[in-house]
Amino acid sequence: MRISVFSTKPYDRQFLTDANGGAGHELTFLEPRLSVETAPLAAGADAVCVFVNDVVDRPVLEKLGQQGVRLVALRCAGFNNVDLAAARDLGISVCRVPAYSPHSVAEHTLALILSLNRNIHRAYNRVREGNFALDGLLGFDLHGKTVGVVGTGKIGATVLEILKGFGCVLKAYDVAPDPDCVAMGVAYVSLEEVFAVSDVVTLHCPLTPDTHHMVDEALLARARTGLMLINTGRGALIDTRAVIGALKSGHLGSLGIDVYEEEAELFFEDLSNFVLRDDLFARLLTFPNVLITGHQAFFTREALSGIAETMIANVTAFQDSGAPLHPVSVERLA
Ligand code: NAD
Repeated sequence: MRISVFSTKPYDRQFLTDANGGAGHELTFLEPRLSVETAPLAAGADAVCVFVNDVVDRPVLEKLGQQGVRLVALRCAGFNNVDLAAARDLGISVCRVPAYSPHSVAEHTLALILSLNRNIHRAYNRVREGNFALDGLLGFDLHGKTVGVVGTGKIGATVLEILKGFGCVLKAYDVAPDPDCVAMGVAYVSLEEVFAVSDVVTLHCPLTPDTHHMVDEALLARARTGLMLINTGRGALIDTRAVIGALKSGHLGSLGIDVYEEEAELFFEDLSNFVLRDDLFARLLTFPNVLITGHQAFFTREALSGIAETMIANVTAFQDSGAPLHPVSVERLA
């Protein structure tokens, strides 16, 4: 099939080309993000391959459909950027990569927790400046601390397994508790209790209308004072304004994020020569107890190769049988 790959970076080209080896699809690599303006670039394609910040709303899908596109193949797990109802109405199939090295995101989550707790980001700069003072770098033992995981799917469960090795007390909240996690010693409690009793809370549920701004002012007010909040899920799980308020008051102890609700305008690009226009993001950058990475939790060799192989397998299955291996549809969500 002819596949137009949007938001292409050099690493996408490398891993997708390798995975396509035997499958023989015709890949056209496009650097622009998919939007209503760039949709015409997919003219002649049977499928588009898109990433987390491509816009796949109704106007975009209408344009793609008019051009003959029959499949939207996500090269990520989350699908919050796709209007699934519009895709159904237009007869366009949507598929995703539901699982690829949960270790990639889980291990990055631990990297954020450990760096933030032991101030590695600040120590790195200090030592380079010849400043070997320890004031301001005080951390805590993770051993024996209570860590709450929100969303215990593939990534959340992997985070829990790692944290068990650190000797943490494990709490969790999920709409569908996992018996394997319970067997591991995880106690499922309400979302409010996770925030009230935990020293660290980390978010691993999908972004849906139910979870949008799940961490808001009211929930933060009930959190344990000094809480470390980690988000490698999706930016809009957190109300950024409320989090900034809680950081300013000191009630929230620290914040580590790999995702940001307005990240589409920032992440994956070198903007170092431009003025930062996002005032909320700029405010976050001023806190010494905030650590931000630019949506890189998935970025390991193992994950990129798994993503590319599953994306290609989805398209091949669609070509051979009319259905991708891992479809996403409004019916399946209902
Ligand atoms: P998964 O589908 O295996 O697990 C999601 C879990 O969230 C499920 O157990 C589900 O029951 C739970 N859940 C759903 N709605 C909920 C709600 N309202 N409250 C609490 N829990 C709820 O997904 P996964 O592979 O573990 O990925 C989790 C999320 O991580 C993805 O949706 C994606 O947004 C994000 N992600 C981020 C990166 C990154 O690079 N930062 C990479 C991959 C995935």
